[in-house]
Amino acid sequence: MTPDEFRAYGRQVVDWIADYHERVESFPVLAQVAPGDVRAALPAEPPEHGEPFGDVLRDLDEVILPGITHWQHPSFFAYFPANASGPAILGDLLASGLGVQGMLWATSPAATELETHVLDWLASLLGLPARFRSDSAGGGVIQHSASDAALVSLLAALHRVSKGRTEHAGVADGRFTVYTSAQTHSSLEKACRIAGLGADALRKIDVEPATLAARPEHLRELLARDIAGGRTPALVVASVGATGTGAVDPVAELAAIAHEYGAWLHVDAAWAGVAAVAPELRWLNDGLDLADSYCTNPHKWLLTNFDCDAFWVADRAALVGALSILPEYLRNTATESGAVIDYRDWHVPLGRRFRALKLWAVIRWYGADGLRAHVRKHVALAQEFAAWVTADDRFEIVAPHPLSLVTFRLRAGDDATRALMDRVNASGELYLTHTLVDGAVALRMAIGSTLTERRHVEAAWRALSA
Ligand SMILES: *Cc1c(COP(=O)(O)O)cnc(C)c1O
Repeated sequence: MTPDEFRAYGRQVVDWIADYHERVESFPVLAQVAPGDVRAALPAEPPEHGEPFGDVLRDLDEVILPGITHWQHPSFFAYFPANASGPAILGDLLASGLGVQGMLWATSPAATELETHVLDWLASLLGLPARFRSDSAGGGVIQHSASDAALVSLLAALHRVSKGRTEHAGVADGRFTVYTSAQTHSSLEKACRIAGLGADALRKIDVEPATLAARPEHLRELLARDIAGGRTPALVVASVGATGTGAVDPVAELAAIAHEYGAWLHVDAAWAGVAAVAPELRWLNDGLDLADSYCTNPHKWLLTNFDCDAFWVADRAALVGALSILPEYLRNTATESGAVIDYRDWHVPLGRRFRALKLWAVIRWYGADGLRAHVRKHVALAQEFAAWVTADDRFEIVAPHPLSLVTFRLRAGDDATRALMDRVNASGELYLTHTLVDGAVALRMAIGSTLTERRHVEAAWRALSA
């Protein structure tokens, strides 16, 4: 594709995206296809000769769009949001245009330095403790996802608690244990399996019935029992905004206990953490000054296209110790000088995309006040929605909802609650998902799409309460 052809098709693509965002509300939120429909519309074999790019755009409309669940639809209330925004899309496009692979400082100094700088900016915007900033012993890095953040914090924790032994000897002796609340995201169990500990290494901390937050006394019991049994506690993960209900664990108490027993404390605030851009929500950071690592996802609720997980450590030596490798073909003077960061040592793969560009574009376009307004709007809508649910005696709220997730159910029980979800989702007008709270089905209304306005939340309540 010549630069002139690229220019012509590029304009068409940008127009296509702008049109899509303008008309996204006109599509059913959930894809209306059956398994295999999309593949049945594609040729069995790849083309022998190149095709015009216009044909790709035509198939995008005819074949791909019907099979899309519209995450950017303003009535998408399922899971957690995956915000897209103009500046993030353009920043991502520029990253593709530059086409750099920033595994080392030397392979593109600006890719590394912008990432370090933007994560310091984000730490300031969220009011994170100084120990996570790059001018301390810690620092930030963009991971693909919160699941990667959980995995690398486990690897760093194992490196630290074993004094580097796991690097050579592995973890096969079944000695290391990991702790998290029963409400926590499945990513930690996966991390235990990937790291070779196995799911049996994971201990579930009981939660308080009223708040669904982890009980510190139970963590202490689990740790004491494991130490007495000859185990080595490696990692405790606290959640700030657990996936099911948004529960917030008492981070400071969990951290103090974890440290007493020599374990690393990671805080997973994948969805909720970004809300700390609003000073009145800074309580979300309580206890972080005791955490060894922390992550939150701008790719959920902070207007930055997937993928962008911001991950910080208080002591980068453990992370780099766990993950650094230096084969001869990557040796270079900048690395040897010790004066630069090589991000290949901060995540699992070697290569990395220039993701900082889109986060930089987002922060510059919206500014701190724009980001605060974005979060505050959704929090206010969720409080209104919760009030409507509370006022209707057919329904009950099942968990605290200080942010933009409201978990609720029909008092009539599981079957009625599930039937309600199936009915509204089948209508195509909105999309929401469920969880289990205390063994009972509950619906999750996760407000936070970039385009969501009050009228969409009102319409959702009308459909749910009809
Ligand atoms: C969404 C979520 C995750 C997983 O996020 P990915 O970035 O998709 O891996 C992990 N933990 C919590 C609390 C989440 O809400």
